[in-house]
Amino acid sequence: MRALLAELEAAVGRARVLANPDRLVAYGYDATMGYRGTPAAVVLAETEAHVAAAVAAAVRHGAPCLARGGATSLSASAVPPDGALVIDTNRMRRVLAFDAARQRARVEPGVVTRDFRTLAERHGLLYPPDPSSEAVSTIGGNAATNAGGPYAFKYGVTRDAVIGLRVVTPGLGAAALARGRDDAAIDLIVGSEGTLGVVTEVTLQLRPLPPHRAVRAAAFADGAEALRAVAAIIAGGVTPAKLEFLDDVTVESLERSRPWGFPRGRGGLLLAELDGSADDVRREARALADELQAAGGGLERVDAARAARWWEARRGITASLARIRPAKIGEDICVPRSQLADTFTAIKRAARQADVTAAIFGHAADGTLHPNLLYDPADPAEQKRAFGLLSVVADAGLAAGGVLSGEHGLGRVKRPFVTRAYDPPTLAAMRRIKRAFDPDGLMNPGAMWPDDEG
Ligand SMILES: Cc1cc2nc3c(=O)[nH]c(=O)nc-3n(C[C@H](O)[C@H](O)[C@H](O)COP(=O)(O)OP(=O)(O)OC[C@H]3O[C@@H](n4cnc5c(N)ncnc54)[C@H](O)[C@@H]3O)c2cc1C
Repeated sequence: MRALLAELEAAVGRARVLANPDRLVAYGYDATMGYRGTPAAVVLAETEAHVAAAVAAAVRHGAPCLARGGATSLSASAVPPDGALVIDTNRMRRVLAFDAARQRARVEPGVVTRDFRTLAERHGLLYPPDPSSEAVSTIGGNAATNAGGPYAFKYGVTRDAVIGLRVVTPGLGAAALARGRDDAAIDLIVGSEGTLGVVTEVTLQLRPLPPHRAVRAAAFADGAEALRAVAAIIAGGVTPAKLEFLDDVTVESLERSRPWGFPRGRGGLLLAELDGSADDVRREARALADELQAAGGGLERVDAARAARWWEARRGITASLARIRPAKIGEDICVPRSQLADTFTAIKRAARQADVTAAIFGHAADGTLHPNLLYDPADPAEQKRAFGLLSVVADAGLAAGGVLSGEHGLGRVKRPFVTRAYDPPTLAAMRRIKRAFDPDGLMNPGAMWPDDEG
């Protein structure tokens, strides 16, 4: 370890290397509760050259290493393995180029997502990926996790916005990748959770800001009833920019954190945003209201001020859940829309049987559900029951014809279930890909891949 530190200090400068255990504590966590690691050192990278030097040193010394952005991961993908070298990219936060006319920008990985969205909006442009963590998450982390958000259904996830990137990998060194030429490599790097390399630059495609918006909401007696409405709305020809589902526990947690004005005591809420031309928004708002009512929903009055408040509340759900139980494991699955209601019912039933409170919400239009399993860490038996449900949730998603993760990635939380999700030839292909980029299995070992040895 001493030799690795000496090499790092010589390569990037002493002030950019942290090895004091007191400074390292904060790097042992991300936003996932119940997971922690003890890194050996942190490099505060400011340039691609710093990243390349850190990766090369890690390879020479056989040390595991991983990149770290805003550390908002909910799948423990940014929790380091013990003894790992963490490459912190937060100081790489320059917007290198912004071309409003061509609607594209080139940025460093540490740019904070919301800062970038705000910049785009100042130019009349939309950067669609809108994870609820956007005030803290980084573009590099978003690319590494292929982050989505409420806009994903209509405008796509981060992968759809990435038209180029630069990456440092142990196997191939530093490389520049461009859409049209390197599509397969870009599509592998985006979403690879730092297990193939470190993203050092991202080129993003923007789009014009929609000129008009309208927000509609409806409360339902039952969560499953609300989720059944989702498939009907979309089959009916409405393409909402956002269509969010909140169950009763979620709404209750929000109202306990602040009086947002959500309807209490109902089983589920759908919150939708429509955008486009004035005519399109009017037409879709009428069709949406008809579908919501036909499905049994009671329409809520949502003026502009309430809409802004409710979207703010939506972004704060994760924190508000502490009003119900102090801790939680935030699950994330994605199923066909037609299966949303049955999957919701199955997970609620399993949670009830395990005596665990589950708050379920999600980006319903694209089939993403976030079953949050709530527990009190002071009650180890309850914590064990909550973590025991991870396997049940994974199986419920797969049984419904869905996937293990809608947007949070697999990380360390879902890795144990990867072999349930893919057949042996697919798993073998995954291992070959991992080896091509990272022959020694040093990039973020323990995250995502079925195993690191292959
Ligand atoms: C309150 C809350 C709400 C959330 N809502 C959403 C949501 O709506 N949609 C969604 O998709 N996610 C959501 N998330 C999850 C999380 O915010 C996303 O996964 C986000 O993209 C992580 O970005 P980050 O910068 O924090 O990355 P980190 O947490 O630091 O890292 C995540 C992963 O990316 C890797 N990584 C980071 N930077 C790089 C890089 N430069 N190169 C290579 N690998 C890198 C890390 O090694 C790790 O594997 C939410 C999280 C919280 C806490």
